Amino acid sequence: MAEKFHILVTRRIPNAALNILKERCHVEQWDNDDVMPSKQLVEGVKGKDGIFCLLTDKIDANLLDIAGKQLQVVSTMSVGVDHIDLAACKERAIKVGYTPNILTSATAELTVGLLLATSRRIVEGVQAVKEGTWGTWKGLWMCGPTLEDSTVGFFGLGRIGQTVIERLRPFGVKSFIFKTSNKKTKEFEDIIQARGVGFEELLQKSDFLISCCALTPATTHIFNKVAFQKMKSTSIFINIARGGVVQQDDLIEALQKKEIRAAGIDVTTPEPLPVDSPLLKLDNCVVTPHIGSATETTRTNMAVLAANNLINGLNDMEMEAPYML
Ligand code: NAP
Repeated sequence: MAEKFHILVTRRIPNAALNILKERCHVEQWDNDDVMPSKQLVEGVKGKDGIFCLLTDKIDANLLDIAGKQLQVVSTMSVGVDHIDLAACKERAIKVGYTPNILTSATAELTVGLLLATSRRIVEGVQAVKEGTWGTWKGLWMCGPTLEDSTVGFFGLGRIGQTVIERLRPFGVKSFIFKTSNKKTKEFEDIIQARGVGFEELLQKSDFLISCCALTPATTHIFNKVAFQKMKSTSIFINIARGGVVQQDDLIEALQKKEIRAAGIDVTTPEPLPVDSPLLKLDNCVVTPHIGSATETTRTNMAVLAANNLINGLNDMEMEAPYML
């Protein structure tokens, strides 16, 4: 019988995935819902052939070296790979697996949720009910903008962005515009019924601006004071990408000064966001705790895909979702 591989699982994960791994590997697991402390992570990776990690684990060159030359695969239960030093993996011929597609729909749903929560002031309204400030029905109270006839802009229009467009069409949005890394073809624009624009135009024209790009050096802090000042004072900013694409202090200032109307953010810096963060004191900001992919089915599917990626990678078989280095 083939010798079993030794792997580290850095968190408590759904049993469906853990069982796959246990059947084929010697599993060492941080059986906890909280992040594996760095000391334990450093100890845990030593001598392992594979690492099953989450977006909260920083997999840098130093950690790869500590793991040792036998390390073959890093499999992350996320579509974002900004926590992994991809160049260092490539240099060491370590394969990387990730979990695209299966979380797209869930994250698109949450994005629509944030659009509605901010524009229709749902959280503010619920708070008013609880605090007893809900008086009689008032004509001008708790009003906000509507998606109907609006221009919705996307910074990044990959799997999630395109799915958000599909979900939003029935709302009667007037136009979709986007900015991506690579210029898209006319055929792409026709199919998706959205128009590629420059960053300036995206900022100036969007009534709702959704950040759903990958976090890279080029997108880090791209939403900063200068960007917010170019947006309409009536616009709503949504970020479901990563906290790092936003210069958070600048967002706070833009919201406080009403340079933009509101923001809905699922990702922050740091995570978790400290409860004394000024963001949480703002009526015009809705913060959710990085729950884009948090449906029961999605999380199980992500874990199973990450487990299969790890097993296939270790056995020199094609991964279901390899990250192309
Ligand atoms: P994707 O299909 O790879 O799309 C990423 C998009 O970002 C692409 O359109 C890409 O442009 C664009 N992009 C990259 N660099 C850019 C730049 N410098 N300027 C403008 N656009 C740029 O990824 P996805 O599956 O849609 O996921 C997107 C991100 O969402 C992930 O990387 C992850 O960080 C985040 N996410 C968050 C949650 C959550 O729970 N909140 C859940 C899932 C994913 P091109 O099309 O030209 O390549």
